[in-house]
Amino acid sequence: MKALVFHGPDKIGWEVKPKPQLKDATDAIVAITKTTICGTDLHILHGDVPEVPDGLILGHEGTGIVKEVGTGVSNFQAGDKVLISCITSCGKCESCRNGIYSHCENGGWVLGHTIDGTQAEFVRIPYADFSLYHAPKLVDEDVLVMLSDILPTGFECGVLNGHVKPGDVVAIIGSGPIGIAALLTAQLYSPSEIIMVDPDRSRLAVALKLGATKMVRNDRGDPVAEIMKNTGGKGVDVAIEAVGIPATFDICQEIIANGGHIANVGVHGKSVSLHLEKLWSKNVTITTRLVDTVTTNLLLKMVAAGKLKPDKLITHHYALHDILQAYETFRNAAREKALKIILTNWDSSGIKPDEALSKRV
Ligand code: ZN
Ligand code: ZN
Repeated sequence: MKALVFHGPDKIGWEVKPKPQLKDATDAIVAITKTTICGTDLHILHGDVPEVPDGLILGHEGTGIVKEVGTGVSNFQAGDKVLISCITSCGKCESCRNGIYSHCENGGWVLGHTIDGTQAEFVRIPYADFSLYHAPKLVDEDVLVMLSDILPTGFECGVLNGHVKPGDVVAIIGSGPIGIAALLTAQLYSPSEIIMVDPDRSRLAVALKLGATKMVRNDRGDPVAEIMKNTGGKGVDVAIEAVGIPATFDICQEIIANGGHIANVGVHGKSVSLHLEKLWSKNVTITTRLVDTVTTNLLLKMVAAGKLKPDKLITHHYALHDILQAYETFRNAAREKALKIILTNWDSSGIKPDEALSKRV
């Protein structure tokens, strides 16, 4: 099969790799129909995630068709159309029993990190019963890909950890795919205002269309002063950090209101300065989290019911075999106006995946 293989910082190739085989009884082999590229994949290419070994297939998001299951898999069978979760969970360890699947002792974020991932024609999914979801019939498959990672991440790490409540003033720092996912899911709680902060005008324009009430550029002027003025000097009830650099975390610390929540979502490669000299008396809560994907079922139902519409996040489509070109587009996201790129695998069966599905029924 062909796959996107990592060979150290800035070195990737679309190469021939052996087709994955069942290793454990709890495994499933899935033929990928759709996948995408995540900001985290760019962090890997930049060398920010040094544990990723040479020769690994990247990718932790996608949909597909189950081809084969081990004898220990009871919830899925060959032919099932599935959503692949970015988090692999064994369902049995202490972390899993506590609902902290991201810290599963036998899984967590492993796909495209420590084991071969989804940017390939086939992938082996360990603990398939807990790591796959049946794809709802009515949900468009491109949209389904948004549920592998970005929607649960924006919702769990941003909105739920930030305790967004009706009437709250929310600021989301970063209008990339994760920031937009937080924007979409924050609206489930009817905040009175959602201020989006980003240097990119086209990303802010998308955010305005999707429910943001104000946009603030943080590449010029004084974004903190602008937000404080906009909130009558009080600041915001919830600040969601969706970038992962010291400057954006600083904005959160400067604009948080008394009693507010700073919810960090960003992947930080450098330390930040914690301004306790200002925050110690403000009754502020600061949270961090790796997505546990405990809300995937809930989000699937909301999307199937049309209550959540993540389709606007999809800006580009490529064939899976053009993935190197897709990486170029995603690396130049601002210039290309890219949010999420859908990669479709037309090749493995020689027919369209959707046709393959209808033939199965
Ligand atoms: Zn991701
Ligand atoms: Zn576990």
